[in-house]
Amino acid sequence: MSAVSVALATTWLLGLLMLPLLGSLLRSGVPGVREWLAADVALMVAIPMLLLRDRIPDFLSIVIANLLIALAGVTLYAGFARFLHRPARWPLLLTCVVMTAPALVYWRYVADSIPMRVVVSTGFTATVCAAVAVTVARYQGSRRARYLHAATVGVAVIFAACQVARGIYFITLDRVANALTFDTTVNVVLLCVGAAIMPVMLMCGMMMVHDALLSDARDAVNRDFLTGALSREGFASAARSLWEEADRTRSPLACLIVDLDHFKSINDTFGHTGGDKVLCEFVGLMRSTIRAGDALGRIGGEEFAILMPGIALDHAQSLAERLRTAAAQHAVVTNNGTCNYSLSGGLASRLPGETLDQLTMRADRALYQAKVSGRNTLCVDTPQSPS
Ligand code: GH3
Ligand code: MG
Ligand code: MG
Repeated sequence: MSAVSVALATTWLLGLLMLPLLGSLLRSGVPGVREWLAADVALMVAIPMLLLRDRIPDFLSIVIANLLIALAGVTLYAGFARFLHRPARWPLLLTCVVMTAPALVYWRYVADSIPMRVVVSTGFTATVCAAVAVTVARYQGSRRARYLHAATVGVAVIFAACQVARGIYFITLDRVANALTFDTTVNVVLLCVGAAIMPVMLMCGMMMVHDALLSDARDAVNRDFLTGALSREGFASAARSLWEEADRTRSPLACLIVDLDHFKSINDTFGHTGGDKVLCEFVGLMRSTIRAGDALGRIGGEEFAILMPGIALDHAQSLAERLRTAAAQHAVVTNNGTCNYSLSGGLASRLPGETLDQLTMRADRALYQAKVSGRNTLCVDTPQSPS
């Protein structure tokens, strides 16, 4: 058995191991997994046909086997495109696969040339690897682990380069009896690298799926499902980091707690769905008002907290006042009519030696003051200076 055949048999075994792993990820519903599974299956059918060269008709071991490998390649690419929420563009991909058939038939039955067939298949695989590299580099999601994307792009580029090198190497040869049993070191090394493409790229894909699932799970805990603001847990953890940073840099930290006024009657008038829409749009309004580094959390039904690092109390007060005015002028269109609403807010700025609980209690106290003084108001807790 040639070294190349051993490499192909190893790829087949790795493909077999990938099947249950990919199958177990199907349930996750993450886009791309179905395509990767299909690519693995196509390659597992193609490899035995390649290995049966000279024992089955050349049409199967050369033309069909190489077409299946090309199909596996474009399906692998489609998996990455779908995973990154890009269109797979199946008509274009399948056209590319079908177009390799006349080339394979010509260089087998008309002008039999192993180097030219190798050039066709390596050129095709290099293009697929390059397309994966470009797509992954261009469309990586903001929440996803960047090192995984960088690693996938890196290996895809290396694979593309090795395929080009193998094609060039074969062009320089005069005659080759069988590309698979052609045991020169260069051919064996480049073919082994080629045999690693599918298992390695599938591993990259599966690691990306795990990363996406982990980040979704983290979001489910840290984000409020309805509004997208931080949940209580997410806000507490963001607040801890901002608190430590403020301690370290001895910079100010302001806490604003806002509560929508008469929300019960908003629900009564506009329905629960209308109330939900007010909450979502209000969070959008807060997002456009606060600064990039501020933490926004939903700490109760219609109650939100904003932690603002590095901001003096008077500056935080004008930001909070801007938010109050914007909310009072904001009209939310619901199925039961247009809803106008207002907020009451309590603001406090961190004192030396104070804990987060003490700061939020002072902001809460100021909020209570805003409520009792008639709502649609902002109150600031100004600490008594020691006498
Ligand atoms: P106040 O001005 O004193 O704050 O009066 P309020 O009616 O806003 O306050 P209260 O605490 O009495 O009622 C809050 C209401 O918010 C009651 C609850 O049904 C509603 N609520 C809590 N969470 C949600 C939610 O996710 N969606 C909707 N639509 N309503 C919610
Ligand atoms: Mg309220
Ligand atoms: Mg409330």
